[in-house]
Amino acid sequence: MSILIFWDNDVPEGLQQPVARVISDVLDMSVQVQENPIMLRGYDRLRNQNDASKILGDMQDFYTRKMGCRDSILIVTGKDLYIRGRDFVFGLARPGVNVSIVSSARLQNSWYGRPDRDEDLIDRLVKEGSHELCHCMGLDHCNNPECIMFYPQTLDELDRKRKTLCPKCRENQNIYKFTD
Ligand SMILES: [Zn+2]
Ligand SMILES: [Zn+2]
Repeated sequence: MSILIFWDNDVPEGLQQPVARVISDVLDMSVQVQENPIMLRGYDRLRNQNDASKILGDMQDFYTRKMGCRDSILIVTGKDLYIRGRDFVFGLARPGVNVSIVSSARLQNSWYGRPDRDEDLIDRLVKEGSHELCHCMGLDHCNNPECIMFYPQTLDELDRKRKTLCPKCRENQNIYKFTD
């Protein structure tokens, strides 16, 4: 299995290659990145957010069903995301279908009124992108606050994570990444 990243044009420019390279290092898998060819739907005017479940449903239809794509796909978008019952999500995965999405909106310092830094955004996109891709491989959340599979509720919790899997999750990933 390899990883295909669809990069939306509303994400700050110039980060595709560094994010793809570091995710490849973190997961020890091959990663390709290309411009997002899919229209992202599910926009909610009242919330000014996009429904992440709806987007992944469309992706599932288009990719897995129509095109028979077998890569694990991660969409990186600048659109703020929500799912029903939650104010927002950093990202979402559909395990077993191999489609996932992560939003840069709340990963940027400027969302919180602080100056943006590329390094910060790259770091966070790598952590959240790898997290969702690991869900696709079958990994669950982990209690270790430094592990990629820890479920962060806030930006601080996300920043506390390291760009690695803990030994237990690493072992699971090694089992899952070779099963089809
Ligand atoms: Zn998760
Ligand atoms: Zn872990």
